[in-house]
Amino acid sequence: MNNIDYQKIFLEITAELEGIDDVGEVASYIPELGKVNPSKLGIHLMTVDKTGYSLGDSNEKFSIQSIAKVLSLTLALKIMGKDMWCRVGVEPSGSAFNSLVQLENEKGIPRNPFINAGAIVVCDILVSCLQNPKVELLDFIRKTSGIDTVKYCPEVADSEKKTGYRNYALTYFMKSFGNIHNDVDVVLDLYFHLCSIEMTCKELTQTFLFLAYAGVNPITNVRVISPERSKRINSVMQMCGFYDEAGEFAFKTGLPGKSGVGGGIIAVHPGQFCIAVWSPKLNVNGNSYKGMKVLEALTSKTQSSIF
Ligand code: GLN
Repeated sequence: MNNIDYQKIFLEITAELEGIDDVGEVASYIPELGKVNPSKLGIHLMTVDKTGYSLGDSNEKFSIQSIAKVLSLTLALKIMGKDMWCRVGVEPSGSAFNSLVQLENEKGIPRNPFINAGAIVVCDILVSCLQNPKVELLDFIRKTSGIDTVKYCPEVADSEKKTGYRNYALTYFMKSFGNIHNDVDVVLDLYFHLCSIEMTCKELTQTFLFLAYAGVNPITNVRVISPERSKRINSVMQMCGFYDEAGEFAFKTGLPGKSGVGGGIIAVHPGQFCIAVWSPKLNVNGNSYKGMKVLEALTSKTQSSIF
């Protein structure tokens, strides 16, 4: 493995970023998320040979939100295989995560599985294929991560349900095109629970290390998915993981990654490491402002972009 002293690099980066604490806003459109302490900062990097490097609040749980969409996609791909790609595309959307506009022209087929519309279609697929979707999805996430204590946060799921007008609009709109096969409330119940999952930065790296190791979690030796599909999931993260800022993240950081409105980001360097950063204040695109800066600085200092 490489012998980079990531600990030293993290200290350098956080010292350099000290002045930018005022930028961004915590996501308060989901009221429960608005309660978080905005000044939290956690970083954890785990290499494929299982060496971990931590900084700050890396052992504190937070709402992983859309980062969890990578896990629902992984399970749907395992169950349905390539047939799922006629229900959802793999193209960058270039628009906001909760946008409705493209669905009209594209006949209710979302551009990719990471915008809300696409993740809701993936939940619809899981509702069709699983007997008890919430239980089986959580079970899959526990097996993938090797962490039995991972759970949904009922308060966050409930808060999203009460204020999720856009997600209801997206789902009914797609149903009108025939691309939602199940009851809207059942599909959204799974979606809201998926987004409510809580993990620490360290747990996130353990969960997503399989994408750096050709589909196997090197900590548990569990094969999560085939190498081909692991490659495809990384490709979709590279192109679509940051919504209308995916180009910016590729340009500045150069790693496949996925953000969530809880302020978390995971990024993967295939063959090397998985890193998770948490800083709750978001930029206008709904991605962690400081989290993106940390990752840009990391790949610049260590020359660890994939490009
Ligand atoms: N649960 C959030 C929503 O549906 C997920 C958005 C995100 O993390 N980008 O609005």
